[in-house]
Amino acid sequence: MFHKTSTKLAGLYLAVLMAISLFFSINVYQLSVQEFDRGFRGQGSILERGPDFHSAPRTLNQLLEEQKSRYEEAKSRVLNRLIFINGVILLGGGFVSYYLARRTLKPIEEAHAALERFTADASHELRTPIAAMQTETEVALMNPTLTLAQAKDQLKSNLEELAKLTTLSEGLLRLAHLENNDLHYVPIKAAEFIAKAISQVIPAAEKKHILIHSDIDQNVQAVGDEASLIEALVTILDNAVKYSPNKSQINVTAGRDQNQVAIRIQDQGSGIKATELPHVFERFYRADSSRTKQGTPGYGLGLAIAKNIIELHKGTIAVVSKPAAGTVFTIHVPAAT
Ligand code: ATP
Ligand code: MG
Repeated sequence: MFHKTSTKLAGLYLAVLMAISLFFSINVYQLSVQEFDRGFRGQGSILERGPDFHSAPRTLNQLLEEQKSRYEEAKSRVLNRLIFINGVILLGGGFVSYYLARRTLKPIEEAHAALERFTADASHELRTPIAAMQTETEVALMNPTLTLAQAKDQLKSNLEELAKLTTLSEGLLRLAHLENNDLHYVPIKAAEFIAKAISQVIPAAEKKHILIHSDIDQNVQAVGDEASLIEALVTILDNAVKYSPNKSQINVTAGRDQNQVAIRIQDQGSGIKATELPHVFERFYRADSSRTKQGTPGYGLGLAIAKNIIELHKGTIAVVSKPAAGTVFTIHVPAAT
């Protein structure tokens, strides 16, 4: 599809280029012809007026003929040169136009491919729970001896699937909204937004008797959109809680690192295998570890959203992990001067 569009766009570029080139060529040609005409007439009248030539009309005619043929030659030389130049422009312009058309369309093509991937991933993720719900409901309905308790169980299971679907659609919407980049960047105290993020995961941490210890430089300020930065931190803290054993500890530190604020979140959890580490920020990626297989809830959207947010802040997010030892996420965002 994009190949065809590139060709069309290149054709359009070339048409504009050729229209300009032909316009100038025609003008140059007309001007040249006018100049030659003037020169030819001027020389012709000198020749006709000259006394020597009256006495030798043959020579005069010959000279006039010579002038005329020189005039025709000059005209055709200009015409040939202009045709040649236009030919070169047509050929060279064709290549350049195609190159420019490809360059113009490349970002659109990439965005289109990303959108297609996103749609394919999203519909795949949505289809699985919907199909499961449909089959289970159909089986239940076909069961003539279905008891009220069984029916209730079925409804409960459907409700759980629906809750998951809601979470998934919320995550997808969040990702889509982030593409629009409507964040408001202001100086914010690191200690404040980190504390707000920690407070959001405390209930989950307490359930697992996980201690969250923080050591944050009270003076550093970041430049960012507070709600989004909190969201990114909550995602990482939520993972730290989710993938850590009971009674473990999570350490959060933050401080100035040159012209940035560095935030470090370290856990003593299951860790991530080296082969899986490069993929954890990808949409829908969930590490194939036994913990995730055993039903830790999630869709693999959290880190993709967090990365998106940090990159919108012109920051970076990195991860270092050792299976069975723990994981460290480090975020860098611009500091307020
Ligand atoms: P969601 O965040 O959508 O609820 P999720 O937690 O599985 O689901 P991400 O937050 O994107 O998705 O994380 C991707 C994967 O990276 C996780 O499935 C998990 O395998 C791994 N992972 C992320 N953080 C940690 C961590 N702190 N310790 C161990 N594994 C982690
Ligand atoms: Mg997560």
